[in-house]
Amino acid sequence: MDEYVSNLMANVKAKNPAEPEFHQAVQEVAESLSVVLQRYPQYRSAKILERIIEPERVVMFRVPWQDDKGNYQVNRGFRIEMNSAIGPYKGGLRFHATVNLGILKFLAFEQVFKNSLTTLPMGGGKGGSDFDPKGKSDNEVMRFCQSFMSELFHHIGPNTDVPAGDIGVGGREIGYLFGQYKRLKNEFTGVLTGKGLNWGGSLIRPEATGYGAVYFAQEMLKTRAEKLEDKTCLVSGSGNVAQYTVEKLLDLGAKAVTLSDSNGFIYDSAGIDREKLAFVMDLKNVRRGRIKEYADKFKTAKYSAANPNLDHNPIWDIKAQCAFPSATQNEINAKDAANLLKNGVYVISEGANMPSTLDAAKLFLDRKILYGPAKAANAGGVATSGLEMSQNSLRMNWTREEVDSKLHEIMIKIHKNCFETAERFGTPGNLVNGANIAGFLKIADAMMDQGLV
Ligand code: NAP
Repeated sequence: MDEYVSNLMANVKAKNPAEPEFHQAVQEVAESLSVVLQRYPQYRSAKILERIIEPERVVMFRVPWQDDKGNYQVNRGFRIEMNSAIGPYKGGLRFHATVNLGILKFLAFEQVFKNSLTTLPMGGGKGGSDFDPKGKSDNEVMRFCQSFMSELFHHIGPNTDVPAGDIGVGGREIGYLFGQYKRLKNEFTGVLTGKGLNWGGSLIRPEATGYGAVYFAQEMLKTRAEKLEDKTCLVSGSGNVAQYTVEKLLDLGAKAVTLSDSNGFIYDSAGIDREKLAFVMDLKNVRRGRIKEYADKFKTAKYSAANPNLDHNPIWDIKAQCAFPSATQNEINAKDAANLLKNGVYVISEGANMPSTLDAAKLFLDRKILYGPAKAANAGGVATSGLEMSQNSLRMNWTREEVDSKLHEIMIKIHKNCFETAERFGTPGNLVNGANIAGFLKIADAMMDQGLV
């Protein structure tokens, strides 16, 4: 770590205590940028990185709601408006018991760079709550969403801040949130993305993050004149990103063999085919059950319960060529990374945000495998949210083929930009540096143009 980065990190840790995920995200970016700040000292004297690290605004609020038994409940809501240099704040809402300020700040920070890479005019933000929708009735989720939006609506708007979904926030939650926003503002606008198709949503938005992560893997493989066809792939998670990753892998002739949730994972050596995927979509999106049921239904699969006493996650200890971590942050530690490499995995495309620890990422980079970091590999979701915003402004709907081809084109451009930037700054093949530097340069130039704000 050079002196500039170590001083910066000491300051970040002192000013933002007890936010380890935020420190991790900042450190990765700062290390990539040290060469840029040496080459272009004007960014350093204008304190561009120091300004990006400090959110433009943080809103934290009480969310009181009533459960089905009539008991009062209180959760905490957040919106981090991180950076608006290149467009309105844009980023998802996460509802999960583990949500806290530090996790949302790491996500908002990552989002700033990711949105910059998409080529679309979107700033970065993130929000959510420690509310856990698991096990709640539809009515409880609706009452919570209405209370959450009763505060959030003061701070968002189609030209100010446009939230979307993330863990625990899918089509159902976006519907309740949009309904309450419309009622409070008396306005029908594209204030959220991931909306239902008949009330302003875009085709392909649900599919976009998973499809995009697979398109990104395809681009990485092209640099070695290889294809995804016939490759065995490990996928974690079983939510939105994981489901559509498996779907696109099937389209391209690859074989996905795993899925997981927080209780455990399934390994199906015969591969997850379309019938099995349809079962997972019904299980997770309609019945809201656990992934264990997959192994009860399909005898080719084996279920392993999560074991918190292990120092590694056995889902990453299976022979394969590709891995698509699509559950949550830090799901791949150094031991998992070593297991992946030992098992022959040489393509990693991160659907989840920051799924690899700093040590794990370092192992992937040292071994020079095809490693697609989250900011680049999962940018297809927010890019398609950007396309939903465009369609809302134009008051028209593009076809499935039109949106998918725009998404595909964006993923190709993101890969090209990261690949070429990594070369330009002396680390060919290092897409972590490529993504961090390319994302930074666009924002830095906009901030320089806009003066000290
Ligand atoms: P989702 O539909 O809610 O699914 C999340 C999946 O990950 C579920 O299977 C969940 O299992 C599992 N999971 C969540 N927290 C976990 C934990 N602490 N330990 C183990 N498993 C956990 O969410 P999603 O939209 O697919 O998001 C997945 C990842 O992709 C997140 O990192 C998110 O930030 C990232 N991402 C999403 C989008 C998007 O468009 N949705 C875009 C870019 C990046 P349980 O049900 O048991 O919790």
